Amino acid sequence: MKKHDSTVTRKMFDQVILPVYAPAQFIPVKGKDSRIWDQQGKEYIDFSGGIAVTALGHCHPQLVATLKSQSETLWHTSNIFTNEPSLRLARKLIDATFAERVFFANSGCEANEAAFKLARHYTITSHNTYKTKIIAFHNAFHGRTLFTVSVGGKPKYSTGFGPKPADIIHVPFNNLNAVKAVINDQTCAIVLEPIQGEGGITPATPEFLQGVRTLCNNYQALLVMDEVQCGMGRSGKLFTYMHYKVQPDILTTAKALGGGFPISAMLTTAKIAAVMDVNTHGTTHGGNPLACAVAETVLDIINSPEVLNGINKRHKRFMNALNIINAKYQIFIQIRGIGLLLGAELAPHFRGRARELLHIAANKGVILLNAGPNVIRFAPSLLVAFEDIDQGMECFEKAISQFSDTN
Ligand SMILES: *Cc1c(COP(=O)(O)O)cnc(C)c1O
Repeated sequence: MKKHDSTVTRKMFDQVILPVYAPAQFIPVKGKDSRIWDQQGKEYIDFSGGIAVTALGHCHPQLVATLKSQSETLWHTSNIFTNEPSLRLARKLIDATFAERVFFANSGCEANEAAFKLARHYTITSHNTYKTKIIAFHNAFHGRTLFTVSVGGKPKYSTGFGPKPADIIHVPFNNLNAVKAVINDQTCAIVLEPIQGEGGITPATPEFLQGVRTLCNNYQALLVMDEVQCGMGRSGKLFTYMHYKVQPDILTTAKALGGGFPISAMLTTAKIAAVMDVNTHGTTHGGNPLACAVAETVLDIINSPEVLNGINKRHKRFMNALNIINAKYQIFIQIRGIGLLLGAELAPHFRGRARELLHIAANKGVILLNAGPNVIRFAPSLLVAFEDIDQGMECFEKAISQFSDTN
C-alpha cells in the first residue's frame, strides 16, 4: 500500500477545520468494498457505509470506470445547457417511481430545500397565500440549511441562528391523532422520513403513513417524503414508500444516489412541477454530467432484482447475529429497522453511551454509527459480503464484551 502522508495527523483537524465534528482518532486512507484502512495500515470492517452513502462499498469497479470515463469526457457545463447523463438519469428515476419530473442538486438538504420551496409555491399559487403550514415530526432530520433544520425535529440544532422560517409545527412521529389535531385548510404539506434515520431508526407504521396520506388528500396538502437516507435500495425496495402502498407528492433522495459522489434529487409529479417557472429555483452544480453519470451507474446496479433480493438476505444475517449477541449480553432492548438500515437500542443501564461503544468497536476493527445517544446504527454497503458481516459481528461481540464489563 502507498505510504501515508506523515505530514497529516488527526491533530491538524483541530487547527484547520471548523469545529462542528468530532471525527475518530484515526484517519482512513483507503477503502475497498466493505473494508477500510487507516494511516497505520490497520484494517476495519465498515458497517457505516459513509453514513448510508457508499451503498455499493468503497471503490466499486463499475463506479470507478464510469467516473474515469466521464471525467475524460465532460465534467460541468452549468444549467445554461442540459446534458446526456442528467436526462438519462431523470428518465430512469421516473420509470422506476411515481414521479414525472426531477430536479437535481448536490446534497440532501438542498433537495429538501427545493422540496419545501416547491410545496409552498404550489399551495400558494394553486390555493391561497395562507396555505403555508408545514407539519413535521419530533426527532426528524432533514439537513442543515436554516429552512431544513427548522423543519427538522431537534430544536437544539435550529436555535442560535436568529429568526427561523415561520409556520412549521412539530408533532410526535407515528401518532396520527397528533397530526389530526393540527392539520387544517392552511396546511401546505406534511413532511416525513418513512424511516426516521438520525432520530433513531424508527420506521413509520403502515396505519400512520396511510392515515397521513388520507389527511393530505382531505386537506389538499402535499405529502413530502424525505428518502435521503432510507431510499436507493436501503430498505430492500428501491424506495421505502414502495413497502407501504402510499405514494408521496414529492420525494427527495441523496446519500446513496451517488455512492459517494455528491448528488441529490427531488422527484415530483408533472402537475406540481408545473407551478415552477424559469428562475423560480436553481443551482450551479446540480445535475452536472459527472455526478449524473456516476448516479446512473449506481441506479442501474441497485435497481436490479439480484441486488434488491440480496438486501433481505443480508438483513437476516445481521439480525441473526445481533440477536445471538443480545441473548448473551442483554445489552439491547430492541433491534429494529428494515433492509440494511438497522438500529439496536441500548438497554436502560447503558443509556447515553452509544458513542462510547462505537469507539471500542473501532478499536476491535469494526466501524459503526450511532443514531442519537442510545441507538447503534448499521448502514453497510448493500453488497456487503456474508463473510464480512460475520467477521464484523465477531469484532462487535468483542467490543460488547469489553463494554458490558465496564458497566
Ligand atoms: C443526511 C440526511 C439529510 C441531509 O443530507 P445532506 O447531504 O447532509 O445535506 C436530510 N435528510 C435525511 C433523512 C438525512 O438522513
